[in-house]
Amino acid sequence: MLLFSSPIIVAQSKEAVVAAIVQEANANSQLENYAFELVDMIGPRLVGSPQMQQAHDWVVRQYTALGTHARNEAYGEWRSWERGTSQATMTFPRLKSLEGTQLAFSPMTKEKGVEAEVIAMPIFHSQPDYQAWLQTVKGKIVLIGMNPISGRSDANWKESASPKSYEKYQSLKTRQLSAWEQSMAYTGNTRRTLPLALEAAGAVGVIDSYWTELPGITRVFDAKSRQIPVFNIALEDYGLLYRMAERGVKPRVLLQGKSKELGVAKTYNSIAEIKGKSKPDEYVVLSAHLDSWDGASGATDNATGVITMMEAVRILRKVYPDNKRTILVGNWGSEEQGLNGSSAFVEDHPEIVKNIQVVWNQDNGTGRIVRIGGSGFEKAYEYIGRWLQYLPEEIRNEIQTSFPGMPGTGGSDHSSFVQRGIPAFGLSSTSWDYGKVTWHTNRDTYDKIVFDEVRQNAVIVAVLTYLACEEPELVSRDKMVLPLGSDGKPMAWPGNLKAKRTSGN
Ligand SMILES: [Zn+2]
Repeated sequence: MLLFSSPIIVAQSKEAVVAAIVQEANANSQLENYAFELVDMIGPRLVGSPQMQQAHDWVVRQYTALGTHARNEAYGEWRSWERGTSQATMTFPRLKSLEGTQLAFSPMTKEKGVEAEVIAMPIFHSQPDYQAWLQTVKGKIVLIGMNPISGRSDANWKESASPKSYEKYQSLKTRQLSAWEQSMAYTGNTRRTLPLALEAAGAVGVIDSYWTELPGITRVFDAKSRQIPVFNIALEDYGLLYRMAERGVKPRVLLQGKSKELGVAKTYNSIAEIKGKSKPDEYVVLSAHLDSWDGASGATDNATGVITMMEAVRILRKVYPDNKRTILVGNWGSEEQGLNGSSAFVEDHPEIVKNIQVVWNQDNGTGRIVRIGGSGFEKAYEYIGRWLQYLPEEIRNEIQTSFPGMPGTGGSDHSSFVQRGIPAFGLSSTSWDYGKVTWHTNRDTYDKIVFDEVRQNAVIVAVLTYLACEEPELVSRDKMVLPLGSDGKPMAWPGNLKAKRTSGN
């Protein structure tokens, strides 16, 4: 538990406040503590799960300790599934533990598990081809992922292969992928919906492998099946099974997936507010989704965003206790299923939405913020450009801006606000190989957090929040004239996002 108990620094000029923010961020950082509690102790935060609820309660406790008014605000409900242990074991032709886990929402297996012969889905050349094969899956565990030609990274190939063999590898890879995609199209399914069709055809289990092109790293999403377990197995073990199945060895696998179905759970947004001292009805919003996929512990997607905002508020409570406008933190639920928490918030709070100054959203990993776009707001350059001048030079010099930018249609929670015409901005980070290492993978863990970069982000958010609170008037909401689309007609401002308030399962 972290308590707010330090002397309040009353600073005079804007420059002095910024200097005090930097000083506090470097001298008393709580980021490691916040990360340990959220990422290691609570862990993954799948929508509807008990851990998601623990995370909401933790956020409220932290913000209460920081002297803010914090609450969990219900907006819907979702199927409640609690992950248990997963074991996948090859039992024939030799005994081997396989590296992998059940997908989120996968039906559990019987106590003893399900053991069966493994078959590999072939390449289909037509729809009837697929239909005929479907008759053969009864009683089998089916491998439904592509088995890549090589388990080495592209960078590894480029560095070590001869140019000729690298070229050959690239062309084989491209051909394999397009054949696989064509084949999948004949099934009329995606990797997410195919297990349902296999279940109907009598398969007893499904194994996928969603490789990110780095050894050992794989994405773990959700299962759509209703009866049979769906596992994700790391490429290295997946390839082993695949080759054996292809060569007629008839390998056997035992899948044991324990999980609990807990019915339906309410879904929430965690909201913290520090009332503005002179303009309490106007808001500066700090936005970061709290939920995650559950293949690992959601460290960079998006615990880093959550703790950045928390640290920024901790710093501001010390350095800027007399905030003019209300500072509102939104830690949204169910971003991963379609920005559901944040879009529910804008639907449910017209009174807040109409008086929002700006929204700062962070949700693309642990890297330092280096890009800010104007989200299609014509005058964003004027106020953001001005505010950025107050950042320490070495931070400011790295930030590239693009104004007016474009109003994004999704991607992360600022879109929920942009769609309502509210100036909302994604603060974009350096990559740290986010796409291949941590985004929705089995490796999104505490050790991937780069604390110096997150510390810098807390400074950026604190400074921009302070200046947005101090700005004499609400900033312009004028939208840019959008360019012509591919159909030759002017593009329309995005605006059709609607919160999904039930899982429908
Ligand atoms: Zn995210």
